[in-house]
Amino acid sequence: MYPAPFEYVSVESTAEAVDSLSEYGDREVTLLAGGHSLLPTMKSGLSTPEVIVDLASVESLYGIDHDDGVTRINAMTEYAAIERDETLWNENPVVPEAAAEIADVQVRNMGTIGGNIAHSDPAADLPAAVLAADATIHALGPDGRREIPAANFFEAMFTTALADGELLTAIDVPHLGENDAAAYVKKASASSGYALVGVAAVLETDGEEITDARVAANGAFDHAMALEPVETELVGGSLDDDGVAERAAAFVTDDVESYVLMDDEQASGEFREHLLEVYTERALETTIARVDGGSSANE
Ligand SMILES: Cc1cc2nc3c(=O)[nH]c(=O)nc-3n(C[C@H](O)[C@H](O)[C@H](O)COP(=O)(O)OP(=O)(O)OC[C@H]3O[C@@H](n4cnc5c(N)ncnc54)[C@H](O)[C@@H]3O)c2cc1C
Repeated sequence: MYPAPFEYVSVESTAEAVDSLSEYGDREVTLLAGGHSLLPTMKSGLSTPEVIVDLASVESLYGIDHDDGVTRINAMTEYAAIERDETLWNENPVVPEAAAEIADVQVRNMGTIGGNIAHSDPAADLPAAVLAADATIHALGPDGRREIPAANFFEAMFTTALADGELLTAIDVPHLGENDAAAYVKKASASSGYALVGVAAVLETDGEEITDARVAANGAFDHAMALEPVETELVGGSLDDDGVAERAAAFVTDDVESYVLMDDEQASGEFREHLLEVYTERALETTIARVDGGSSANE
């Protein structure tokens, strides 16, 4: 199908992008990043923006900046660039590991971290990774800049804490400590490659016990969310305890009544609950095996 007619605008700075979002009065204005979610919805008639503001020429929105303790991934950075960044794998592998799991090489060459996060597709891979990473999302709007903790960012299906007129500019990913480890594992849909269930885990440890845990899932619910009962169960657990991952994973659906489970032609809610427990255990086992093992996720 062809998309409905629209006006195309190319901008060269973040300020121009923000101005564009408010200067068309009542007309519906939408940002274009990699286009791999937006264009299919336009072609199928699900989305009919009247003005498209293309971010492709905003140079400041590209690239990965490594700093002490934190790495900034700018919004237009493609998954392929994140997946190839060896330094980021060493600093915190959960984001590059999730990026490497996305679809195929064509999608990874075009899709951007900003578009992925801003879209809040329940089946996307990066939202759980940025939650587990305890990342900070940077936004720029008519009232200036603000920082949003990832924990407060994903609100519902295709709905985030970004306000109307705001541009997502970057994501800050904290580095892991030397006794910490992380992993992302996924059960992909056989037809689309999207996550039926994806689980991201970051474990902070003192080398013997788990001192803090962040575990988050996408695919299972209407939006990515932290698995808080699992996190609570993990803290204080011994790394030498072979049953720690299995016992914690049994808590995945402990407060499931507060979740909206996905239930569609790809997988029932019941099957997703089952996958969630299995993949949470795998994510935790993988993460625990990486603590102190010196094994990098991309080796
Ligand atoms: C065949 C196929 C398979 C796929 N498989 C997967 C998969 O396995 N895992 C996965 O995670 N994804 C998958 N995707 C989706 C893909 O990752 C998209 O690239 C991603 O969802 C959106 O990123 P984008 O850069 O393409 O954004 P766009 O499609 O350009 O934009 C998406 C939405 O985000 C908004 N937006 C974009 N950038 C910003 C910004 N900086 N600030 C504010 N709003 C912004 C846009 O206005 C739009 O509403 C797949 C897509 C296709 C076509």
